[in-house]
Amino acid sequence: MSSSPVTFSPTQTVQPKRKVSPVDTPGVKWEQKGHIRPDDLHIFIRDKTLRDIINYSKTDLWREVGGVLVGGYYLWCGVHYVEVDAMIPARYGESRVGAFKFTHAAWADIHDRLDAEFPEKQIVGWYHTHPNLGVFLSEDDRFIHQHFFSQPWQVALVVDPIANQLAFFQWRNLDVEPCGFFFVRGEPTTETTPKPEGQV
Ligand SMILES: [Zn+2]
Repeated sequence: MSSSPVTFSPTQTVQPKRKVSPVDTPGVKWEQKGHIRPDDLHIFIRDKTLRDIINYSKTDLWREVGGVLVGGYYLWCGVHYVEVDAMIPARYGESRVGAFKFTHAAWADIHDRLDAEFPEKQIVGWYHTHPNLGVFLSEDDRFIHQHFFSQPWQVALVVDPIANQLAFFQWRNLDVEPCGFFFVRGEPTTETTPKPEGQV
């Protein structure tokens, strides 16, 4: 693990890659969950990824746990969208009752794993749990989002593993608001070799 300070470049502008949206890709099965406004960033999450997140969320039903969402940022027919197709748990995050924080050790570990396992992907957002508290963003959560996920295409996911609820949030004007998403079933048609399950 790197021992040097971890720095971020929130002002760096990332341009979306052009790629056919899953809704326009033949053979991809998707479902819209919740309300999606016409000018929303579209969020697509794979069933396996969401299952991984929910399983990880249930590893601690008392303290909050979290991690980052990994995928890509794209543009298709004027619609900006992100695909969430992996997650990296913040193994060295600060997990407490009612609070979750990324630590320097957590960021170093996350970036090491991102470089090693997903070199072509980006951090498109983060997730954390609210055991039995419901799904919302607290003031501390908004602070994290503003400071570490400030790109307009970076999203937040909150999971309540006891109430079995989840919600996505995205930037809207200068606030971070709840939003709908698209649930994608199965492997994308462009990937022919599903990786074996690496469940902890
Ligand atoms: Zn929270």
